[in-house]
Amino acid sequence: MDHKQAQDEFSDYVDGTLAQPARAELDQHLAVCIQCRTELAKFRQTLGSLGRLKQTAPATLLTDVKQQIYRRSRGRFFAPRWKLFGRIPFEWISLATIIAMLVYYLAILHGSPTGVRPAP
Ligand SMILES: [Zn+2]
Repeated sequence: MDHKQAQDEFSDYVDGTLAQPARAELDQHLAVCIQCRTELAKFRQTLGSLGRLKQTAPATLLTDVKQQIYRRSRGRFFAPRWKLFGRIPFEWISLATIIAMLVYYLAILHGSPTGVRPAP
């Protein structure tokens, strides 16, 4: 096993997924090769640095991003909604209006077809 072969297997070796004959060969090579032991140490150090990057986002990230977009767009995006009218479900209002118009239409159509009430 040469240095190139050894270093190609570092990833599997560190993950513990390197199969046994290859693992034993790599162990033997590392026992006698200072260059590859140094490379392996660097590899593990890099993995450790990458692992420390996996931090969770702060809880305020979303609001911070929205505020920044709001500021940079000069209020065009993510403007704070009005307290009273911001949360009105316009879908339901539209539906209620359509139903009211339908009821009105049916009442006019079937209530008095000619528009003239019969004399009492
Ligand atoms: Zn080597």
